[in-house]
Formats: sequence, C-alpha cells, structure tokens
Amino acid sequence: MTANGSRVRLNIGGTTFLTYDETLAQFPESKLANLSRCMDNYDDYTREYFFDRNPVLFGFILDAYRKEEIHLPGDICGPTFRKELEFWELSLSHVAPCCWEALYKSDDDVKTVNKLMDNYKKNASIRLTLDNHCSYRKRLWLFLDDPKSSYFAMAWVTFISLLVIVSTVAEMLITIPELGEEYTKSEKQAIDLILAEYNLDNRTTERVYSMKPNPYLTLTITCCHVILTFEFILTFIVCPTKKAYMFSVVRVAVFLGYILFWASFTIESNFSTMRKKEMVLVYLLCKYGTILKLARLFYLSKHIPALNIVGVTFSASISEFKILVFLLGILVCIFGYMMYATEFLDNDAMTSTFVAMYWALITLTTVGYGDMVPYTVAGHVVTSVCAVCGVIVLAMPIGIIASTFNKYYNFNSYVLTHVHLNSEVLKPIAENGDARSSRKAIKVDDRY
Ligand SMILES: [Zn+2]
Repeated sequence: MTANGSRVRLNIGGTTFLTYDETLAQFPESKLANLSRCMDNYDDYTREYFFDRNPVLFGFILDAYRKEEIHLPGDICGPTFRKELEFWELSLSHVAPCCWEALYKSDDDVKTVNKLMDNYKKNASIRLTLDNHCSYRKRLWLFLDDPKSSYFAMAWVTFISLLVIVSTVAEMLITIPELGEEYTKSEKQAIDLILAEYNLDNRTTERVYSMKPNPYLTLTITCCHVILTFEFILTFIVCPTKKAYMFSVVRVAVFLGYILFWASFTIESNFSTMRKKEMVLVYLLCKYGTILKLARLFYLSKHIPALNIVGVTFSASISEFKILVFLLGILVCIFGYMMYATEFLDNDAMTSTFVAMYWALITLTTVGYGDMVPYTVAGHVVTSVCAVCGVIVLAMPIGIIASTFNKYYNFNSYVLTHVHLNSEVLKPIAENGDARSSRKAIKVDDRY
C-alpha cells in the first residue's frame, strides 16, 4: 500500500470516507475494488461515490481493506454484518477467527427463540381453536386440560393432582409393616398354598403373613383410582385429536399406570389365581408399576414455565446426552476391563468383566458404593485414574446442558414479552401469565 495512488471519495449514508484506490484493490473480487465512474452511484459534480448504507458499519468494512482481514464490533448482530458483507461482495472467509463468535452467535439465539416459539404455538393452537367455536365437548376439554381457563378448571386440576399425590403416598404407606395387619387363619392357609411353590424360610413366611394391607389405605387408593381413571377416559373422549393426545410419553405412562393398577386389583380380588408362580410375579409387577401414574403431575409442566423449559432443554440437548452416553460407554468398557485384568487373581468380588464394568460405572459417576474395592497396587492406580476421568467426563456435557437450560430460561421471558407486545394472533397465550386476563381472552368462563 502506498500513498501515491489516487484518492477515492466515498459518501456512505451522508458520511464521507477518503481512501486510496490501491487500498480498495486489496480484495479484488469485492464491490469497492471494482468502482467505476460509469456507475449510477458516481456523482460527477461532487466527484464521489454515494451508497445508502450504514456509515458506522462501513467504518469496519473500510478497515478490512486496510488490515487485510475483516474484524467486526463485538456488540454487532451477526446477521446484520453478514448482510453488509454480502452487499459489499466481501467473502465471509476474510473474517478473522477472533470475530467468528460475534458473526455466528446470533444464529444460535435465533434457533433458541424459534424452538421456544414453536413450543408456545403448540400449546396455543389448541386454545385458539377452542376460542373460535366452543362446543360443549371443547369446553369440557378446556376445563379438564387447562387450569388457567377458569377458576373451576384450576380447582379441578388441583383436586386431580391431589388425588395422584394422595394415592401415591397411600401406596407407599401401605408398605410400612406397622400399618399393616396380620392375615386371618383361613387367609394364611391360602397364602401357604402359594408359598409352597417358593421354598421360603420361616422368617420370610412370617413377614408375608404380616403384610396384609391396611383396609383404609386400600380403600383410599381404590377410590382415588376410580376418579383418576374416570378423568383419564373422559379427557381422552373429549380431546380434539386422539392421536396427538396419546402421542406423548407422559400420557402413555399414565395410561399404563392405570391399566397396571386395575390388573393388580383384579388379581388381588381373585386370590386363587395367584397359585401359580408366574401369576405372583405378574401381580408384583402390576402393583409396583402403578407408580407410572405419577407422571400425571407432568401434565402440569406446560403451565409452569420453569418445568416447561426443562422439557425444551432436554429435547435441545440430545446431542450432549449422546456424547455423555458414548463417552461413559467407552470408559466403562476400558476401565472395567483394566480393573478385571489387574484384580482377577486377588479379588473375589471381580468375578467377570461385566461385574468390573458395573464397578467402573459406579466409580465413573462418582457414586462409589464401596461394595467392590481394589486390592492390588495396579488396581488402586486404575481406580484413581477412573475416578478422575469420571469427574472430567461428567462435568463437560452436564455443564453444556446446564448452560442450555439457563439460556432457554432467560430467552423464555423475552419470548413471552415479545409475543405479548407484537402478536395479535397469539394474544391469548401471551396473557396466560395472568389467569384472569386469559379468561377474558378465551371467554369460556362466563358460559358455565
Ligand atoms: Zn477480530
């Protein structure tokens, strides 16, 4: 670059820039390197080229010609600067590595906002259709599904949530031996017939004898399940699209929970069916599988922003979970095998590589039950390295997932405010923060 070249006068949005044509020749393929006086932008009277662009940003563009690489201000919105580069026909490959983050950071934010907007539209679409034509069926759906639609709906959802909690607590209380009762003599005889298959020792038999469930707790659980099952079936009947309704892990879990409960209830009431060994196993599976209905409480998550964001974060962090599982899998195999190789002669606990892999998983996840410990020096070294690797491997993806959650959580409030301010179509969702205004928007409450 010399000072001998001819000067070029550029008027960018009213601000005049002076430079040499040799400077502009730095990027020969760009617009500024190919200026000619025949262009419409050239003014013969003022002898300058006029472009209606942002003069502040042009300062950085012109600087790029002087420095031979493009740097952008840290506070600039990436897409805006990319448009500017496109206008001046400058290739993105000239952007210096130190400024790549500023150039692309906004794209990530746009993705976040789009995901949150999709999430809101998904929840809104059902409400909006209900708003437009409200048949009895749809009003009933609104009442059952959306606690913010009216005070009655809020009371109903609270009642259902309480039933889920009460029945779950009752199911847990029923396992406390002190609350149970002793079986009667005739019942004991029936149990003996079942236990005959199992060759149990006296202590276990005595324990089974004292495990008769408390009748009040049993009654509570059954009553709760009658109402909960009725509510589930009713919601399924009135829901707008049955396919979409059941296309949810949570609902399938709840559905299974109820089926398992009624299956165990049926087996329990026909004591004689339990004679077979397999039947007892099926019974136990059904009985403890009913805990799945606790997933019912997740329905509420769409009305609690923080929980809702947890769901969005999980779906956005699938690649991080894959990294976590992949890394853990590899390390479990490596350390399990190393542990087995160093300990199998001295350690009775390390019976196979699979047992050693279980030890590796427990050590890597920093749980460390201490049920298996190394005896040899080499084993101690492997254990130490394994524990350190566990801390490092777990910290990485979990840190990313945590920051993703943080970002979604913060953006959620911006999205809410933005939707509230700008979109007439989405007004009812924006106002969901306040039950009363939402009621006004949907106008369902006054028809009850
Ligand atoms: Zn830079």
